[in-house]
Amino acid sequence: MKIFHNAHIYAPGFPGATALALSQGQIVSVGTDSEILDAFPLAEEKVDLRGYTLWPGLTDAHVHLRHLAASRAIVDCETATRAECLERIDAAAGELPPGAWIRGHGWNHNAWPEGLGTAELLDGVSHGHPAYLSAKSLHIGWANSQALALAGLTDSTPDPESGILQRDAQGHLTGILYEAEAVNLILDAIPELTPEVLKQQIQSLILELWSLGLVGVHDFDGIDCWLALQSLHQQGELKFRIRKSVPYDHLDDFIQAGLRTNSGDDFLQIGSVKLFSDGALGSQTAAMLAPFEASQSTGALLLTEDEILEIGRKTGSNGLSLAIHAIGDRANRVVLNAYAKLRAFEEEKRLPRFKHRIEHVQIISSEDLPRLAELGIVASVQPVHAPSDRDMADQFLGLRAEWAYAYQSLKRTGAEMVFGSDAPVEPVNPFHGLHAAVTRRRLDGTPGPDGWHPQERLALAEALEGFSWAPARISGRGDHLGRIAPGAAADLILLKTDPFTLDPQDIGAINPLATMVAGEWVFQRPDIGIGI
Ligand SMILES: [Zn+2]
Repeated sequence: MKIFHNAHIYAPGFPGATALALSQGQIVSVGTDSEILDAFPLAEEKVDLRGYTLWPGLTDAHVHLRHLAASRAIVDCETATRAECLERIDAAAGELPPGAWIRGHGWNHNAWPEGLGTAELLDGVSHGHPAYLSAKSLHIGWANSQALALAGLTDSTPDPESGILQRDAQGHLTGILYEAEAVNLILDAIPELTPEVLKQQIQSLILELWSLGLVGVHDFDGIDCWLALQSLHQQGELKFRIRKSVPYDHLDDFIQAGLRTNSGDDFLQIGSVKLFSDGALGSQTAAMLAPFEASQSTGALLLTEDEILEIGRKTGSNGLSLAIHAIGDRANRVVLNAYAKLRAFEEEKRLPRFKHRIEHVQIISSEDLPRLAELGIVASVQPVHAPSDRDMADQFLGLRAEWAYAYQSLKRTGAEMVFGSDAPVEPVNPFHGLHAAVTRRRLDGTPGPDGWHPQERLALAEALEGFSWAPARISGRGDHLGRIAPGAAADLILLKTDPFTLDPQDIGAINPLATMVAGEWVFQRPDIGIGI
């Protein structure tokens, strides 16, 4: 038994809680210091948290783990000098498994006092790995000798039609390649990620996610991500709660394997089948009821109501729920129409009333807004999108921006909401999401103290629930995950200051001191100042 006391504990249902008792990865009891210390006088460990705050560990309900992990594995080469870039490559190369490629991106030789690099210089820091660094412009690439060799490029290789393989005065390749056709000669030689490398990338990503206060995610990447997670889990190395969506292109495999939504365990659980009903706002491919401002285009619907219904009948009959990406107001309407018919089908076939989701719900007509709650459809939204997309939304949507990212309106209808980041599209830091939800501002404070469409701001408690208990509830695990309560898993984060006492604008800068998963501290900042 372990007791934490003298803390601010966020535990709805236990107002004024300052202490909790843990045993075997579970919260046993929550209450005041005297209640808990008196109830467990023989506890082996009693930790005075000196007024710090304990929050439930956070969950991001929409990420792309593989893409996020891969983005972390690319060395940031946007440095002031070439030497600094080479130092970073040196450090990264030392950590790679044998044979793996080093990838870097972001250099600009015009900004480097030393100018362009050479294959030889890169060889010197690559520890025998093939290396390829793309320029920020993407129009120039820098390869080392190993990479050139693996791409089959030699001094006698002719330049492609519209690209240049740079050569020195003796006619030797320098490792610099100009324009797509040349650059692609290297890119084509880079193998798909091996499962081993992907696993390693996900493992190191999880270290970062813990440090941000995350104890789990709902992932929307493909089959290779699923295989890597499975393998990590089998090795007992997955100390992170993942709900994995079912990639539609492997639906039949999942059905044949008997994998159903919510099957699995508390670390790796099967989620919903992911579908796309439209595109995105930025590319004006979101399916709209009326054209975008100053445009004839109403975007593109990728699935009709009937198509969704047909897929939904198949998935539902096999125990799988749906999570459908819908950005535009037409897409949202079509998906809701299909869900309404699917509800009738579920009733007729006596199937469970699945926790189907709509991913993003970005632009929805006021008539459709209440239908999520009516139909029991989960709104999976990413609060950072609101301040981040603000200018584009105002420009493309005009007055319709009123019904874009309408989180408070959705909440008021009684819709169940889960929050995420859509990382790597937006930063994965959940405190950025909490900040955006309660302020409707960017981290720099724009567009001013009230935020963008301030009527859509949420209370911090509502936003926190969307990042903690709500994702657990819609996963059928609300009784034992996502909140601080007796019987729940001890997934906690330790914060220096109670976020409820902060100026909301400061919420985005919160850095957890420590993160606990299932009773084990998986991350601790070195400067906490107390032995926890
Ligand atoms: Zn996404």
